[in-house]
Amino acid sequence: MDLRHADLFEISPISILCEDWSGVKRAVDEAIAGGVTDFDRFLDDNPQFFFDVRWFHRILDANRSALDLLGFQDKESFLRESRVRLPANPASNAQVFKAMVRGDTVCQGERVLHTKDGRVVPILWRASLPPGPADPEAYGRLYFFAVDVSELKRVQEALMAAQANLSHAGRLSLVGELAASLTHEVSQPLVSIASHAAAATRWLSRQPPNLEEVATSLQRITTSTQHTVRIVGKMRSFARRGELVTEPLKPQDCIADAVTLVEHEAYRQKTSIAVDVPPQLPAILGDRTQIQQVIVNIAYNAVQAMQGAKSPDRRIAITAGVDDAEAVTFTVADTGPGIPDELLSRIFDPFFSTKPDGMGLGLSICKTIVEEHGGRLWAASGPQGASLSFSLPVAPVVASAQPAVL
Ligand code: ADP
Repeated sequence: MDLRHADLFEISPISILCEDWSGVKRAVDEAIAGGVTDFDRFLDDNPQFFFDVRWFHRILDANRSALDLLGFQDKESFLRESRVRLPANPASNAQVFKAMVRGDTVCQGERVLHTKDGRVVPILWRASLPPGPADPEAYGRLYFFAVDVSELKRVQEALMAAQANLSHAGRLSLVGELAASLTHEVSQPLVSIASHAAAATRWLSRQPPNLEEVATSLQRITTSTQHTVRIVGKMRSFARRGELVTEPLKPQDCIADAVTLVEHEAYRQKTSIAVDVPPQLPAILGDRTQIQQVIVNIAYNAVQAMQGAKSPDRRIAITAGVDDAEAVTFTVADTGPGIPDELLSRIFDPFFSTKPDGMGLGLSICKTIVEEHGGRLWAASGPQGASLSFSLPVAPVVASAQPAVL
């Protein structure tokens, strides 16, 4: 079969738009001839430029797939409405402008399309440009290829949700399994503690009391208690998993890592997450995964507290700052019910939970992690909700007297 260029354009399963950017190229060249040396800066300082030059830009053709993607039956109505359907998108346009100035032969980006039939479609686009420095006429027919990535985004979101669940519930179910297998081990010393306590009471109530036997029973109680504490400790360190591998970490990266994992659940529970981290914070020394777990657990608790209390306005604010040159303090504040004063000191105890299906291990694990890092974890509560904070030591500076800033 003899397929011509035009046929290939029409039947391509990939959406293709043919666009005339020669007028835009002229405007860009003029700006540079007029003395613009830092073009990126020029674009930042002149947002109007995008809207001025869009009148020089024209869509010449669209293939069948592109029309389907944009929700159009026929090419003519699309070409008539293309300015409305594909309005200037500063982020995407800037990619093309910058590529023109640099003389790149390829540029690509992501944007969202609002289709005629009301869909919002995220796309990835890519275009080949003439090798620079090119005559504006060479930009007269640029082909833009677009791929609908809605499905990819959906899969990504599902993956993130699964990850978030894994990182919290997954770990708890691991603890659950472990707890089940250790129940026997723990119940042995508990039974023996109870029977030694009963024996001690009996020896005490003798006339005269047999204090030697009481002392022996108490000693046995102590031994059994220590045994139980060791078992619980084993369980907690297992729940924490992994060795401590510390490295200098940017506080904003630690927060961003964690937010990626909770934002899906937060979104599901109609909770907004705002992050406010000043630039130039020093790096902290920490184990990336474990710090992420701490923030995820605390933020997850905030989501659950607001959901449990049916709080009408659900917001989480995550901030980080330096108190002194030695530590960075992270704070996760919520607009939930808060924590009653009498519980503030107990929430870090292992197995303390006010949730019907809570294991009560999250915060106790967080506390151990933070303390193993040489930091501190604490809670505060007020009329606005609860806030949990932890501080971590600043990473030592390598070959410089300044704090490490990444
Ligand atoms: P769990 O989540 O299994 O209950 P945690 O150790 O993570 O275990 O939390 C212990 C308890 O601390 C929770 O049951 C809850 O009572 C309290 N808590 C933690 N975070 C918050 C919060 N943001 N607002 C209100 N209560 C909280």
